[in-house]
Amino acid sequence: MKRSVSFVILLLAVGLCSCRTVPISSRRQLLLSSDAEEQQLGATAYAEYKKEYPVSRNRVQVDALNRVGQAIQKVAQRDDYKWEFTVLESETANAFCLPGGKVAVYSGIFQFIDNDAELATVVSHEVAHALARHGGERMSWAAMQQLGSLGLKNAGAGPIAEAVYGYGTQLGVMLPFSRKHENEADAIGLILMAKAGYHPAAAISFWKKFGGDRAPSLIEQWVSTHPGGPERVAKLHELQPQAMEVYNQAPVKYGLGKKLK
Ligand SMILES: [Zn+2]
Repeated sequence: MKRSVSFVILLLAVGLCSCRTVPISSRRQLLLSSDAEEQQLGATAYAEYKKEYPVSRNRVQVDALNRVGQAIQKVAQRDDYKWEFTVLESETANAFCLPGGKVAVYSGIFQFIDNDAELATVVSHEVAHALARHGGERMSWAAMQQLGSLGLKNAGAGPIAEAVYGYGTQLGVMLPFSRKHENEADAIGLILMAKAGYHPAAAISFWKKFGGDRAPSLIEQWVSTHPGGPERVAKLHELQPQAMEVYNQAPVKYGLGKKLK
């Protein structure tokens, strides 16, 4: 097949599947996978993670995640999600939310969390990645690159789907998020936590802990997928007035919530 024809087919495929606007941020994004397909991949990957890591029995951490998770879930407005919140035993300081509302927080991150509101920062940031379908977007771009490099020899629905779902296993935390996705998740997450009644200032106190050089080996993974530093904290400062407006209108206010230390 001629390259120009392939290109037209590619454009058609993109045109047919890509029409979506991210909630809250209103950015247009490329998506070759459907919401339902991503949720299916999310559920499968979540089951794998729960097999790989022991589920925590730490009452304080498990109760805190359930409490905060329910509050964030309420304002996420995705009743079609089958929400789940699990603390996984691991020294790694990380967390993720897979498509469909499958949230996991590794126990290692709790050493950097002093209260419910800081935990809400982590959970709402991860939930924001899922609501904005960043996983599906990353898969779509990766598949496009792959198809592009193949010159679309056998263009059609089959190879496109194959290329997209070839990245399904990396949906969760394998591919690093781009800076654009990180900023978007911070901004959406901040609004979510404020709506849920957690004081937005907790986002700053939490991220500041990752700007320094405390226990670098333990936070290595989180940092590699979530670049921190003064730039991130400065952006969160800029967003505070907008988030405070949302917080002031929240029907329930927890402030910094329960102390966890
Ligand atoms: Zn992130």
